[in-house]
Amino acid sequence: MGAGLTFVGSAFVPSWSSVTILLAYLGYLAIAGSVLPGKLVAGAVLSDGSRIIYRCNGLLSLSLLVVLLGLGVGLNFISLSVIADSGPALLSTTLVFSILVSLILHVVGCKSRHKGSSLRPHVTGNFIHDWWFGIQLNPHVLGVDLKFFFVRAGMMGWLLLNLSILLKSSQTRSLNLAMMLYQLFCALYTIDYFVYEEYMTSTWDIIAERLGFMLVFGDLVWIPFTFSIQGWWLSENKVEMNKWEALANGLVFVVGYCIFRGANKQKHDFKKNPTAPIWGAPPKVIGGKLLASGYWGVSRHCNYLGDLLLALSFSLPCGAISIIPYFYPIYLFVLLVWRERRDEARCSQKYKETWAEYCRLVPWRIFPYVY
Ligand code: NDP
Repeated sequence: MGAGLTFVGSAFVPSWSSVTILLAYLGYLAIAGSVLPGKLVAGAVLSDGSRIIYRCNGLLSLSLLVVLLGLGVGLNFISLSVIADSGPALLSTTLVFSILVSLILHVVGCKSRHKGSSLRPHVTGNFIHDWWFGIQLNPHVLGVDLKFFFVRAGMMGWLLLNLSILLKSSQTRSLNLAMMLYQLFCALYTIDYFVYEEYMTSTWDIIAERLGFMLVFGDLVWIPFTFSIQGWWLSENKVEMNKWEALANGLVFVVGYCIFRGANKQKHDFKKNPTAPIWGAPPKVIGGKLLASGYWGVSRHCNYLGDLLLALSFSLPCGAISIIPYFYPIYLFVLLVWRERRDEARCSQKYKETWAEYCRLVPWRIFPYVY
């Protein structure tokens, strides 16, 4: 028992290989993100009137990385399964890295406050609070927006971890329909993220959340390592799905995707052009600022509903024999219900009577006729 625990514990000790993988990965992303071409997108207007320009080249960075990894594997230079093999050590290495980065951000944030930055640095003086929630809204290093960079690293890391689990399960002959569906849905979701990466520039994390341990950990550790729990679980547990179950699972994914992408796209298009048609008709607009038709007329956060259905579709391949693979949809449910409340408070303060009118017209928060 003691020896077993020591063995499991030792797997979590950062190794040279896990440090090399993490630094090589982040180094690649920093270089690719800075030099590869991509659409330049202006972010939200900041409190000092400026706007950050984001270079949306995530899809190209991902494609090039996949090609390079493919070449490395083909030439027997690297093995993709090393990512899954080093899973626990990579997890602890990334955790230590996140703690260090957020400590550095804390120190730099405290100093920038004294330089009179107008970009909403926020210091309460409570170290734990300031380190956890962050001080600066949009810290940059060499022109790279760190928030945008970390979320990209997390989403791409999730895909790479999944690919590595897929490879390992094909080597150990545990590859079956359930694993393939899980892999397919997650791959489509992450690739879609990069196709529509510019939409990220107007999301809550980018426009409202400061960069501290919570976001760094959330992006670098939480996304890749907890969103892939189903993959780890399926590689240890055999689940047989029949074609009807697979079809129903596919349907949940497609419906979730249409709502998720449709709602986010409608809002994005509306912000760019408030007269653009929604579902073929002129948009219903409140106070010239809030969209109240299309998905935004069904519930006030229909995009969250779509995301929750997608999260469920990633877990359904695991069947109903354990709650562990349902960790992601359960976590997302709690997160989005909480976030909806915070966003509601922010919008109510920002839009005042216009928001109250929107709430009267669209009474449902996330789930139509339920909540
Ligand atoms: P939203 O994209 O819904 O953005 C909320 C903002 O949109 C509001 O603050 C307001 O900002 C604007 N807005 C709200 N209602 C309207 C309206 N009717 N008309 C016009 N503008 C409106 O929230 P998030 O950034 O939280 O989420 C973005 C996506 O990311 C979602 O699909 C979500 O599911 C997903 N997500 C996924 C997570 C995961 O772990 N998988 C975690 C978090 C989010 P403004 O002041 O600009 O008007």
